Amino acid sequence: MSTNSEDEVRVERPQTSAVGIPAIGHAMRYAVGEMGVRRGGKTLHALNQTSGFDCPGCAWPDPKADDRSFAEFCENGAKATAWEATRDRVGAEFFATHSVSELLEQDSHTLEHHGRLTEPMYLAPGASHYAPITWEKAFAVIAERLRALANPNRAAFYTSGRASNEAAFVYQLLARRLGTNNLPDCSNMCHESSGTALSETIGIGKGTVDLDDITEHAELIVIVGQNPGTNHPRMLTALEQAKRRGARIVSANPLPEAGLIRFKNPQSVRGLLGVGTRLTDRSLHVRVNGDLAMFAGVNKALLALEDAQPGAIFDHDFIETYCDGFEEACGAWRRLAWSEIESQSGLAREEIEGFATDVVAAKSVIVCWAMGITQHRNSVATIREIVNFLLLRGNIGRPGAGPSPIRGHSNVQGDRTMGISEKMPGLFLDKLREEFGFEPPRDHGLDTVNTIRAMRDGLIDVFFALGGNFVAATPDTAVSEAAMKNCALTVHVATKLNRSHLCHGREALLLPCLSRTERDHQARGDQFVSVEDSMSIVHSSHGHLAPGSDLLRSEVAIVAGVARELFGEDLGWSAMSNDYGVIRRHIEHVIEGFDNYEARVREPGGFTLPRGPHDSRTFHTATGKARFTVNEPDAVDVPEGHLLLQTVRSHDQFNTTVYGPDDRYRGIKGGRRVLFVNAEDLAARDLRDGDLIDLVSVWSDGERWAKGFRAVAYETPRGCAATYFPEANVLVPLDSTAVGSNTPTSKSVIIRIERSS
Ligand code: SF4
Repeated sequence: MSTNSEDEVRVERPQTSAVGIPAIGHAMRYAVGEMGVRRGGKTLHALNQTSGFDCPGCAWPDPKADDRSFAEFCENGAKATAWEATRDRVGAEFFATHSVSELLEQDSHTLEHHGRLTEPMYLAPGASHYAPITWEKAFAVIAERLRALANPNRAAFYTSGRASNEAAFVYQLLARRLGTNNLPDCSNMCHESSGTALSETIGIGKGTVDLDDITEHAELIVIVGQNPGTNHPRMLTALEQAKRRGARIVSANPLPEAGLIRFKNPQSVRGLLGVGTRLTDRSLHVRVNGDLAMFAGVNKALLALEDAQPGAIFDHDFIETYCDGFEEACGAWRRLAWSEIESQSGLAREEIEGFATDVVAAKSVIVCWAMGITQHRNSVATIREIVNFLLLRGNIGRPGAGPSPIRGHSNVQGDRTMGISEKMPGLFLDKLREEFGFEPPRDHGLDTVNTIRAMRDGLIDVFFALGGNFVAATPDTAVSEAAMKNCALTVHVATKLNRSHLCHGREALLLPCLSRTERDHQARGDQFVSVEDSMSIVHSSHGHLAPGSDLLRSEVAIVAGVARELFGEDLGWSAMSNDYGVIRRHIEHVIEGFDNYEARVREPGGFTLPRGPHDSRTFHTATGKARFTVNEPDAVDVPEGHLLLQTVRSHDQFNTTVYGPDDRYRGIKGGRRVLFVNAEDLAARDLRDGDLIDLVSVWSDGERWAKGFRAVAYETPRGCAATYFPEANVLVPLDSTAVGSNTPTSKSVIIRIERSS
C-alpha cells in the first residue's frame, strides 16, 4: 500500500467527535493484523499496566495503579505496539534480495511494514547491499572508527525519545567518556522551546502539573497548539472527567480538530452509544503563529479588568512574594495596541476579552500545549507569555494550576533528565566525574540542527543513532539526507527498517534491538527498564513477549558492548549491562530526585520527581523568583500572495511512522499528499478544492519545492495552511529556527502554491 499518491485521495466531511466505536475497530484491526489474535490479546492486556510495559507511543501519564482499567490504551497506543510486536521479519535474506537503492524507492510505510530487523547488518564501502555481520565485529568496526577520530567532537550521538532511562544514561556516559557533548536528540525538535522558556521563568524545564490537577482540580483548562485526539488520545479521558465535574475548556487552534470538539469514550455506554461529551466551551480559531499575540492580548485584557477593580483580578500576594518583573510586563501590555493583537492573532478583541472572563471566573487554570506552540521562530517568547498569564493569578504551585507541555514520545522527557543534552549543567557533569572518576567534556556540543550543519560541512565522521528516523524527523530533507551521506560511518540501533538506514555514510551498520514488548534477559536475569512521563512520574516497564530473534540485543547491551570494545571495563560496562540495577544505582548518585531509585521504581505506578514550583513554589531561576518577562508580539511577516504552512500528523501516524494512508478525523482517505487551505485563499489564486498543486517554500537561500499535492478547502484562518510531515519537511529550511531554542520552525513555513504542470 502506498501512502504517497495524491491520485488516490478521497475527501470526506471532517468528523466532529473523536474515538467511539470506529477507534476500537481500527485498534483491533491493527493488533490482529500485525500480531494475530492470541499474541495481540496478550500484548494489549499488558500495555500500560503496572506489571506490563510502557506504551511506546506518547508520554501521557497513566492513572494511579489502583485506578487502571483492563484496557489502558488508545487506538494509537495499540497501533504503536502492534507495529513493534509484528510477526513479520526482515533478515539477511531480505537484504540479499533488495539493494539499498531499490529500497530507497519505497515510502516510509512500506519500509517499516516489512517487519522487525533480526540480525546485525553491515554495508561495506561501495557495497550495494547490507550483509550480515557478527555483534563482535560490529562493535569492533565502531570502536576502530571512533578511536581513529581526529578529535571526539567528530562523532555525534543522536537519541530518539523511546530510549529507556537506563539506555539513555549509559549512552550519554559513552559519549562523554569518549570526550564529546554532541548529544542531539528529538527533544531539540519538539519541546526544546518549552524547556528553554520554563527554565528561564520558573526554574524547571518541565511541566508542573499532575494528572489529578486536570481530572480533579482545574476549573479552566486551556489547550493551545495541541491535537490530543490524534497525538495524546488518553488525554481525552482526563478532559472528560474534568468536564463532568464542571471544568471549562478553552481551546485555541488554527484547525478545528475532532478531539477538541467532542469525545466518545469507548469505555462507557454513553460514549459508545450516545453522543459523547462535548469538550471545548470556547474555541479560538487563532492564526498560525498568532498565539503570542493572543496570550499578550488576554494578559492585556486581564490588566484592564484589574485596573477597573484593583485587587480583584491579580494575585498580588503571590506576585509580591514569588515573582519579579511584574511592572515591566504590565508596561508592555499597556503599550500594546489592540489593532496589533487582532491582526497578529486573527482573533477579534471581543473573543480575547471573552477568554479573559473565563480566566477570571476560574480559581485554578492549567495551560496545555504541544508542537503548535513550540515550532515557531518566537516559540520561546510565546511560552514565556504563557507563564506570564499563569503568574498573574498565582496559577502555579497550587492544585489544578500550572503549565503542562505535553510530550510526544514515551521517554523524551526522561532522556533529558538522564543527561541526553548537548549542554547539561555543570552540576550534572561534576556528579558524573565524582561517580565515575573521569573528567567529562565541558564545552557545549551540537544539537540536532547544528549536527546536520556539521555533517553537511564534513565535520562529523561517525553518526550514531539510538533509535529514531533522523532524516525523516529533521527539517530540510534534501540537506539532511546529503549530510548523512557525508559521514564516514553511520550506525543505527533500530527495531525496523527506515529511510535513515538507507541514506547511509560511506559504511553503515544496522543494529537490531529489543522492543518494549519483549523480554530482556541478561547475565543477571530478566531485566526491566524505567521511563518518565509528561508529568514527571518515573515508572517501570517490563517486556513479556519472546524476542523477535535470538540475535536481538537490548539498547543497553549494544551501547555497553561498544563502550567495552573502546574502553575495556574501566567504568564497569559489563556490570551495567548484566544488571540494570547497577545503572539505576549510578543514576541515583548522579541525578537529583532519584533517591532509593530501585525500590521506588518497583512500586506499582512508580514515583514522582521533585518539581520546585509545584511542590513548594520554589523557583530556581537566576533571581530565585518566578519571572515576568516582556514579549513583544512579532508574528511572522507573510509576504503578499503567500501562506503560512504548519506541518502536522495524520491520525494514521506516530511521529515519522506512517501506519496507513488515512486521516479519519480530518476526512482524508487513501493518501497523504494534501494541503488544507481556506477556500477563499484558493479562490484568490484561481484554484479550487481538488486541484493538483505544488508547494514552494521561500527562504533567504532560495526556494524548496514539494510537488503533487491535492488542495483541500478546509476551515482554517485565511492565510494559513497545513500538510503532513515528513513529506513536507523538504520545505522547512534548516536555518529557520526558534530564537533561543534552535528548534526548526516546522509550524511556520512561508509558502506559495502553484498549479501543478
Ligand atoms: S495516550 Fe499515548 S501513551 Fe497512552 S496509549 Fe495512547 S499513545 Fe500510548
